[in-house]
Parts: sequence; C-alpha cells; structure tokens
Amino acid sequence: RAVCQDGCWSRGELIPYAPLSLDPAAKVLHYAQSCFEGMKAYRTRDGGISLFRPERNAARMAHSAERLCMPPVPESLFMDGVRTVTAYCANLVPANSGESLYLRPFLMGTQADLAVSASTSYEFYVIASPSEAYHSGNMRLWVEREDSRAAIGGTGDAKVGGNYAASLLSIARLKQRGYDQSLWLNAGNRQSVDELSGMNFFAVIDAELHTPALNGSILEGITRESLIELARDLGYQVRECAIDIDELLRRVADGSCEEAFACGTAAIISPISVLGDGGENYQLASAPGPVAERLRQALLDIQEGRTEDRFGWMQPVEVI
Ligand code: PMP
Repeated sequence: RAVCQDGCWSRGELIPYAPLSLDPAAKVLHYAQSCFEGMKAYRTRDGGISLFRPERNAARMAHSAERLCMPPVPESLFMDGVRTVTAYCANLVPANSGESLYLRPFLMGTQADLAVSASTSYEFYVIASPSEAYHSGNMRLWVEREDSRAAIGGTGDAKVGGNYAASLLSIARLKQRGYDQSLWLNAGNRQSVDELSGMNFFAVIDAELHTPALNGSILEGITRESLIELARDLGYQVRECAIDIDELLRRVADGSCEEAFACGTAAIISPISVLGDGGENYQLASAPGPVAERLRQALLDIQEGRTEDRFGWMQPVEVI
C-alpha cells in the first residue's frame, strides 16, 4: 500500500490483507476515480518466479491514471509493489502448467468531498491470488448493437472501473439469452468491431490474422500486443485494421473466417464458437482453431520458461 497526498507519494508498505476503511463521501465511490491492472507471475521450469512484461502494466496504469486526472504511480513504486507482493506470496505461485499468481494493482481517489473534481488524496494497493488454469471453453459472443462500452473521447483506452460498469447490463442481458460475452462495436460508427468487455478480439480470415486497430476506444491489451509479435515471428500475416461486423458475419457464414478468438491476461486465449446477432447464430468452423491453439501454446511456453524468452518478456522476481 502507498498513499499520495497533494501529489507526494509515500513509501510502499506491506500490510495484512483486510477490508479497507473509506469515508462514505470518498470520490472513488461516487465518481469512479479508479484505475487498475491485471497481471500474472508464473512459476518457471527452473523453479523460479517471473512476471510477464510488468513494465507494460506500469505504463498502461500511468496512462489510465492520467486520463482520470490522478497522479500516476511512479514506475519504481509500481514495480516495487508487484515484486514485493509476488515475493511475499512466493509459496502461492502454482507450479502446474496454466496456473499462476494473478496480481491486481489499483489506484483510487479517496478524498471525502462530493464536488465533481479530482481528489487530493489517493491510495495504491496490490492484491494477489493464485489463479487456476482458466479455460473459458468455447465462447458464444453476442454482437452488442444496443449499447456502447466506450464513447469517442471517453475512457475506452484506459483501464478504469467505469468501463466495466458500462458493460454490466449488456452481460446480464446476454447471459439470459444463452451467450457468454458481448462483442462491442465502435461507438462512433456502430459498425466496426472494438473488443470484448475484458479481452481483445482476433479473427483468422483467409489464413491471416486480423485484429481491430487501436482507435482510442479499444484497450491496448498486452496479450494482444504480444500475440501480434509472436504470430509474426511464427510466420503469420497479421493485420491491424478496422473489422466491419457485417463483413465478418458474412465471412463466418461463407467459411472464409475459419476461427476467431479473444485474448487477455486472465484466459490468455479463448476460442469463440458462435457470434450471435439478433436472432441469427453464426457458427465458427473451428473452435478451438489451430491458430489459437498454436499461439496459446507458444505464449505459455515462454511464460512458463519451456522455451527461450526471445523477446525479453519475462522478469524474474527474487524471492527472499
Ligand atoms: N480489453 C479490456 C477491456 C480488458 O479489460 C482487458 C484485460 N486487461 C483486455 C482487453 C486485455 O488486456 P491484457 O491482455 O493486457 O490483459
């Protein structure tokens, strides 16, 4: 835990996990002045523990904080926090493939004041929990044409609590209809695919990987960025481009889009089996598809230390 008062950060301290005490008028509770990260520590084959690209999470959290007018957590404080919590939880980092320690750093405005203005006080925490091999199975996505997750000029490309609040109703509605996740469209054109509520989107079209280009409303996923690099290294063509939803559905129907998947820190890669739009279900030919399977294995091999870390993604944590 570290606190920031009038722009000055305290040193971080390790404190027991316990409920927080917040003033009922704390800004975070009313105006959602909160941002967070999701990241993982892996047990490597040599028995050590490594974090996956933590400096990317530090940078994204700084970007999210700036978007919500919060003082960014200095990178050294962020890294100290995740390293200290990981080292403290070392015996909770599982050794089975696919399992890991999930870390959740978060920052919130705590000033007790109901004016709509940035807080003068902040608290930064890192909490952690062992995470099982997360297999979402084949996902059925619902094309969300009614609501938007992120507005143009809003907070879509920041990892802030409000974006998830905007997704909750859509998720509740689609679960009743027998789907698992929303596929969000761009709020500006309501025609191109943005992402899921907590994952980025890929489709394999005519044997090439397509993923929506970053456009200000999509979260810049670290798994997305890593898969693009990894896929190119494995010889795949990867296109970052606008994906028109009606064109995508047509291609699923005619078989030229053979597979689609979502990616993120929690599940790494989740195959998509169905895109539901209105009353129609568009069935993907292959779920899990061969490209998704290959990329998932290649990424896990790096994260769990079975292959050389040729991109320099893993950062070992010293366990005291
Ligand atoms: N989009 C959203 C909205 C997310 O919440 C996440 C999870 N952080 C992602 C994409 C995937 O990002 P990452 O690969 O960094 O976990």
